[in-house]
Amino acid sequence: MISIGNAFSRLLRRTPTNAQEPRRLNPENRNLPSPEPRIVPRAAHTLSRKHISPGALRVLYRLHESGYAAYLVGGAVRDLLLGGHPKDFDVATDATPEQVRQLFRNCRLIGRRFRLAHVVFGREIVEVATLRGQDGEGEREVHDDGRILRDNIWGSIEEDALRRDFRVNALYYDISDFSVRDYVGGLEDLRSREMHLIGDPQQRYREDPVRMLRAARLSAKLDFEIATASAEPIAELAPLLADVAPARLFDEALKLFMAGHGLASFHQLERHGLLRWLLPALAAALTRDRDGALRRMTERALANTDARVREDKPVTPAFTFAVLLWSEVQSTALHLLESGVEVSAAWHRAGQMAIAEQARRVAIPRRFGVAMEEIWALQPRFAVRTARGRVQRLLAHPRFRAAYDFLQLRVEQEPALAELAAWWTTAQERPGAVLPVPPESVAPAQSVPVDGAAPKAARRRRRGGQRKRNPGGGDA
Ligand code: ATP
Ligand code: MG
Repeated sequence: MISIGNAFSRLLRRTPTNAQEPRRLNPENRNLPSPEPRIVPRAAHTLSRKHISPGALRVLYRLHESGYAAYLVGGAVRDLLLGGHPKDFDVATDATPEQVRQLFRNCRLIGRRFRLAHVVFGREIVEVATLRGQDGEGEREVHDDGRILRDNIWGSIEEDALRRDFRVNALYYDISDFSVRDYVGGLEDLRSREMHLIGDPQQRYREDPVRMLRAARLSAKLDFEIATASAEPIAELAPLLADVAPARLFDEALKLFMAGHGLASFHQLERHGLLRWLLPALAAALTRDRDGALRRMTERALANTDARVREDKPVTPAFTFAVLLWSEVQSTALHLLESGVEVSAAWHRAGQMAIAEQARRVAIPRRFGVAMEEIWALQPRFAVRTARGRVQRLLAHPRFRAAYDFLQLRVEQEPALAELAAWWTTAQERPGAVLPVPPESVAPAQSVPVDGAAPKAARRRRRGGQRKRNPGGGDA
């Protein structure tokens, strides 16, 4: 979460002396003059070059030295003015992508829908976009339903500001004089901690429905309110997300859940009626979750991931998506088990089905899907009264740690699993030790009723070490 420090109030206290008045444009109606274009000189704002990444600075300077306009833009300017640490630095310029490529050896041109240049410095990629306009040279393609399919018409900085999504995302830091340029009132919104779409909200969401998800995500990340006029149309227009490419929604889902503000994003998605268009199975399961157990598990998982991001620990989408699809996998596995499918096959198949169904909305890349299936399929194996050799094999399984963490999370949903989870904690801490048999616990596949049905009777107690298949878990 980012908060505005004293430094920022300084930014707004001074009235900037505008050397050149930018062309006046109005963010409410893009054909009318703006009420208040504003150029804040270097001394009157807090954005400092020492907080800009070395790669972005090199790009800005090189463009400038070569006679082009060059601005830091978008989330980086927004986050720096709020005292935060941007995760990427985007640059806008009046050079075309081809001209950018001629300036940098380490440059590749990407995108068809939105052509831009990536300049690569080791692990850092600086995205360089040409300023875009409404009409002029280049190509723009708009679908009958209003969606912008392609946007490659070059324009002025004023026009570029107006085609951005939110006013707080349309601030420019000009490398030629170190001023901050605001054409749409973004500075005011940073102060009032509100997000306003630029232009007519209906039209802007129709042009690109992903902006609804960006509203939820950025308001979660910044702890900003979405202004009423920008929030209102979302409930009605959320179904438009069905037309967005599932691969793009996966990228968006990563930014929602894996960037350190996943729990807040989740709440914003729910609040604005967006969750069911992104994760339909989860949203449906939450409406049936009378005791709040699934919600507890989901929220705990997202909060854990946020904490790991804050501590700079690695996080994987496989684990997060394994949680987000869990209720679906669990109920499908139960049905399959009830119809006589063997345990291991039932869990694998349930996992594949959940991922395939989810792919209609969010396409999870195969490498994560494989890991998710393993995490799920290992769950019933934890519950089997098992021989020592099998315990060792499970401990050595490459996905053991993730599956074990998942088991710990499930305790939120099923407190009865606490003893079993504790047993595996000990088994892990003392590899090779002779442990008492795992505690009798309800087998995972049977423990949660589907659609309110009563769980089947728990398995009969058996002596440890005996190898025997059982319906709730099999060490296949
Ligand atoms: P963050 O990087 O913190 O997630 P961001 O606002 O920088 O947030 P990016 O996806 O990096 O998000 O986009 C950079 C900028 O490009 C945005 O700030 C905004 O100005 C513009 N932009 C991105 N997506 C859209 C969109 N769908 N419609 C209009 N403008 C957009
Ligand atoms: Mg960004």
